[in-house]
Amino acid sequence: MQIPGIPEATVQRIWSKAAAIVSKPDAIVNAPGSNDSMLVESKTGKRPHLVTKESAGRFTCDDGCKMWLSTRICSHTVAVADSINLLPSFVDWRKKCKGASVSLAGMVLSDTPKGAGRKGGKPTKKYGKSA
Ligand SMILES: [Zn+2]
Repeated sequence: MQIPGIPEATVQRIWSKAAAIVSKPDAIVNAPGSNDSMLVESKTGKRPHLVTKESAGRFTCDDGCKMWLSTRICSHTVAVADSINLLPSFVDWRKKCKGASVSLAGMVLSDTPKGAGRKGGKPTKKYGKSA
């Protein structure tokens, strides 16, 4: 599995966590009052994550999910997408939105960039592999 802008090791970690969630019977439940939202067990936080199904096979997690904030894909969204057989379209969507301020959010979380106001909104190619 390859997703632009995300190290393969991270993708693998997301996938194995998602597999663990999917295989657990009570780790995903429908959110009250919504057909398109689900609550997913959190391994790190005290409260579950709210994953919402958007149009076009897109899924979103909530602001409490660091992985989601930094990469726009996380074990929770993958687990929900997989559980309703929409994982291929979610991955497809994610692949298409490469560079979409993904690394920006990640930077804010990991360490605040000192050079605020730098020119150019291009994501830095940290994991640069020759294409
Ligand atoms: Zn998440």
